Amino acid sequence: MLYLDANATEPVRPEARAAALAAMETLGNPSSTHAAGRAARKLLEEARDAVARACHARPADIVFTAGATEANALALHALGEGRTILTGATEHDSIRAAAPHAVPVPVRTDGTLDLDALAALLEMHPDPLVCLMAANNETGVLNDIEAAGRLCTAHGALLHVDAVQAVGRCNQNWLALGATSFALSGHKFGGTMGAGALITRPGQELRPLMRGGGQELGRRGGTPPLPAIAALAAALGAGYDGAKIAKYRDEMEAACVAAGGVVMGAGAPRLPNTLCVALPGRRADAQLIALDMAGIAVSAGAACSSGKVTASHVLAAMGAGELAGQAIRVSLPWNVAPDAMPEFSTAYAAMAKRGLRAGAASA
Ligand code: PLP
Repeated sequence: MLYLDANATEPVRPEARAAALAAMETLGNPSSTHAAGRAARKLLEEARDAVARACHARPADIVFTAGATEANALALHALGEGRTILTGATEHDSIRAAAPHAVPVPVRTDGTLDLDALAALLEMHPDPLVCLMAANNETGVLNDIEAAGRLCTAHGALLHVDAVQAVGRCNQNWLALGATSFALSGHKFGGTMGAGALITRPGQELRPLMRGGGQELGRRGGTPPLPAIAALAAALGAGYDGAKIAKYRDEMEAACVAAGGVVMGAGAPRLPNTLCVALPGRRADAQLIALDMAGIAVSAGAACSSGKVTASHVLAAMGAGELAGQAIRVSLPWNVAPDAMPEFSTAYAAMAKRGLRAGAASA
């Protein structure tokens, strides 16, 4: 199978696998005081130190969670209390669901945040919490977090950054850009599923979502998922060849355009590995199935947990109209091989051609 769905989950990196296995061999719960517990605690704190170094944060300001959905929910719960919440119109469902009454900040047609609209909303709503994604999971479009951070600082607003798709691929230093906090998820950069983190500026207090046994300095109750945390820390240090991956992505993009595809977010700064491309008149789920039958795993704009494909709210917010239901996401994994390009390009061109012969109605 040719796996091109890295934004759903990256393949586990060998360093992460080794770290997870070593953690599984360690007896003990990090909260126990005996020698086994102390060994587990040592692993946990070594992982925290490594994440702190990679993310330009203090170890004490890192809260490990079960993933980014939880980290985003914790940020909204802890920082959003009593504040108006402003969120980008293309945020991930983990933000949208946790802040259903948020005021949306529109995006431009290229998918980037409308900074003028953000400035106007900041004038209207005093002391809000602003939640913005660093990179969009469907289009790969990067937001100008530095500019947004300047606006938030000038207006005394808190800024939470959902950095899930950017960490490990383009930037880890969100605190320097004005973020109050940011969320990351291990399985999005080659760790295993089951661990994420909320990282805050120094000394930021966090009201816990889950109290439990007071772990993570009282900010997140529950036994931490040590093997997944060890894998997360190892994967973060593994390096990423963004230039090589962008070259491969650009080749695939050119092949899609030659076959009639329309690239979403073209012209905006984007993640190196992501291509969101619509085939006019062809439903996204039909394309996904056609490519799956050719042995290629991609995803459609918004595939929810039930596997049902609906038109993408991200592309709709970008004003994509009908194309919002006709786009697939191709996201290259860290270990993509050179022969992925000809294989994907041939399958895409064949799919596009079949559609032309059969007519748009077939899709
Ligand atoms: N935020 C973004 C931008 C994502 O792409 C995802 C996952 O797809 C999440 C948050 C949620 O991450 P997790 O799978 O760790 O809950």
